[in-house]
Amino acid sequence: MELKRIRERCLKFIQEISKEHYLAYSGQSDTINIEKVYDKYNDLSEPDLLKDLLKQKERLRNEEERKVRYLSMLIGELTESRKTVALSDKIGEKKASAKIFFNGEEVSYYQASAMIESISEREKRKELLDKINVITDETNDEVKNLWDISHELARYFDYDNYVDFWSKLKGVDYETLAEGMDWFISESESTYRELLSEMAIVELGLEIDKIEPYDTRYLFNMFRFRDQLPGDELIKVVETWTNEWGIDPTAYGNVTFDTETRKRKSPRAFCAPVRVPDEVYLVIMPRGGFSDYKSFLHELGHALHYGFANSKYPMEYLYLGDNAVTEAYAFTFDHMMVNPLWVKRYLSLKDPQLFTRYSITYSIFMLRRYGAKIRYELIFHRDGKDSDMRMTYSDLLRKSTLMKQNDVNYLQDIDANMYVASYLRAWILEAQLNMYLTENYDEDWFRNPKASNFMLDLFSMGQKYTADEIARQLGYKGLEVEYMWRRLINTLNDL
Ligand SMILES: [Zn+2]
Repeated sequence: MELKRIRERCLKFIQEISKEHYLAYSGQSDTINIEKVYDKYNDLSEPDLLKDLLKQKERLRNEEERKVRYLSMLIGELTESRKTVALSDKIGEKKASAKIFFNGEEVSYYQASAMIESISEREKRKELLDKINVITDETNDEVKNLWDISHELARYFDYDNYVDFWSKLKGVDYETLAEGMDWFISESESTYRELLSEMAIVELGLEIDKIEPYDTRYLFNMFRFRDQLPGDELIKVVETWTNEWGIDPTAYGNVTFDTETRKRKSPRAFCAPVRVPDEVYLVIMPRGGFSDYKSFLHELGHALHYGFANSKYPMEYLYLGDNAVTEAYAFTFDHMMVNPLWVKRYLSLKDPQLFTRYSITYSIFMLRRYGAKIRYELIFHRDGKDSDMRMTYSDLLRKSTLMKQNDVNYLQDIDANMYVASYLRAWILEAQLNMYLTENYDEDWFRNPKASNFMLDLFSMGQKYTADEIARQLGYKGLEVEYMWRRLINTLNDL
């Protein structure tokens, strides 16, 4: 297939699948049929096409090479998903139609998962998680088959394993990244233990070794602050902030806030960039509380990145590229929750200092969790034997988070195409960007219009550059994990 035709087909595919996701998860269509869309674009998932593209890429230089590199990343994802989509649709349906009886009501699997974080009675949380786990476990055999298909595909393309396949396609050295995270985990150990112990005693009345998997999300939703972060204030908080900063939160009408209440709407905020830049949806159903505020800010970061992208760029830069970049901008927004000055200025909290402390604890928890996840995924994808994996998963995650793990998730707590690394690289870039903004636009850069202009310049480029390239443009040697720790520990020490 000619390059021009591949690009056109890819663009249509992305727009269609994104629209399908938007309509289904915003509760406007009853069913989601991803397989149907893949069927329509079967020509893009022919394995020979990927081989062909990779060969073409070798001959190209500069912008042309970059564009084909980004295209082949998408074709790689598509080739993998084409093989797994029927099965993953089936698993999705099984979960969606599963019924859980809880508190005299019938709730869906996904609703139940979202409910855990706000149930204050411990026994009730346990009861609900036990019920969720039964369904998760019932789908594990199928999920195992899913991974077998993906691993087989990597070997079809002559790679030793899945990790090597994605490392080559995305140009990321996962081993070095995992080593950086090993360093982070050991460096943050004593501080994290102290912070977590304090939080668990105050909020749950528990020593950390007594925390059960059904407590973790409740603990980190910071129930004490729930009423001080009401759902119906969320949009107003964001408008006040962005207006002061000089950023239009709708990107001049490109971003549509979908706030309508619908029965089947996803309880979690999400962003659907259907046409970049001018048709981007930010879907929310504000419930209030820490997690809700944080995930809304995160999705707003994505939405504005897409909404402010410059339409003069080719589709490869608007829709494709290194997703660590869009994740870094999203983290820049949700990490306002660890910025004491932002917290004090825009949230009406009785104890903003304690809130920031908890928020930092949560961030360290997430980084340590993802540090263990990448280690686990490297083992799982390289030579994981199923019988050991449940144990390996819970051991690695328990050692890093210092809390017991819900080991039933050992096959499902893994994103496709080593996306775990995109999050980790994004957190590093976010820390470096944060330091750059602070040094150049002062500590309250988040309300300095010069800083918002700088951010809009970054947004305008879409994902033309990789996260490593952006770090170098900011004056760093590349993505350096040390900044992530330095930023958190400095904030903590200044509180
Ligand atoms: Zn994200």
